[in-house]
Amino acid sequence: AKKHGRNRYYWFEHQMEHELRFRSQLEAGIRRGLHEDEFEPYYEQQIDVATGELVGFEMLARWNSPQLGIVNPDVFIPIAEELGVIGELSEQLIRKALDHAKEWDEDLTLSVNISPVQLRDPWFAQRLLKLMVEANFPANRLDVEITETCLHENIGLVRSLVSSLKNQGVTVSLDDFGTGYSSLAQLRSLPFDRIKIDRSFVSNLPEDQEGMKIVEAITSLGDGFGLPITAEGIENEQVLAKLRGLGNFKGQGYLYGRPEPADLIRTRLRKLDRL
Ligand code: C2E
Ligand code: CA
Ligand code: CA
Ligand code: CA
Repeated sequence: AKKHGRNRYYWFEHQMEHELRFRSQLEAGIRRGLHEDEFEPYYEQQIDVATGELVGFEMLARWNSPQLGIVNPDVFIPIAEELGVIGELSEQLIRKALDHAKEWDEDLTLSVNISPVQLRDPWFAQRLLKLMVEANFPANRLDVEITETCLHENIGLVRSLVSSLKNQGVTVSLDDFGTGYSSLAQLRSLPFDRIKIDRSFVSNLPEDQEGMKIVEAITSLGDGFGLPITAEGIENEQVLAKLRGLGNFKGQGYLYGRPEPADLIRTRLRKLDRL
């Protein structure tokens, strides 16, 4: 038994060493990627569910790594946050996205995701404004998505940030709604423009009874507070039909399309004559 235990110990040690090495390679890769400009905005369509009309795009970060290929944000965003480079990474992406979105029809909006770490930067709103001015991009076409879990942070900080953004003319959406634990009082006290229902409640409708209840509850909450709603994770026609029955939504999901790089979006828009 002793021998067995020792072998296992060696195995764990080996495994951990392996993981640590992979982790530090990722860290080095991300730093290099920032320097080499390897981060690329992808775009997901946002649709008016009632009419099927395109209303804008959500920018989703991708890392075009020479070693790993296209890497999803769930892998590199948390590491970039820990390394303290998320602000820089985000600015690199937003700068590119504003340049892309500037070419689209002026009624199409651009949504960007902001990390809770960035919200702690007292100059965040200023920096964003600077990017918009440099790109000559109108603030009223930009939407900033803040996740519900941000509200666990200093609520005063979030409140002043949201009002600075709104003073600039940017809209602010509460992302991943339903997964955090924000109170109704918080929801009412912050001047959000929209809430986004997390895809975990949407993508298995109508079979998912619990999801259905939650979507209905959030819908009436939105009605009560006068907050329009976006539903994420619309993967098929059944989900779409169910949502249409509940009210007016903006929607996103694989039914409409996967996130795509700027050149594919441009082709799509040219066909729609909205470039
Ligand atoms: P999110 O903001 O909830 O973005 C939606 C995610 O759901 C995207 O994953 C998108 O590809 C995926 N998705 C869209 N439609 C469907 C669908 O019908 N079914 C399913 N199963 N999934 C769908 P992605 O691109 O991997 O992004 C993951 C998360 O990473 C995002 O979740 C967002 O929180 C974060 N993220 C992305 N870009 C950025 C960024 O630039 N900055 C920060 N801080 N976070 C980002
Ligand atoms: Ca989002
Ligand atoms: Ca989500
Ligand atoms: Ca046009």
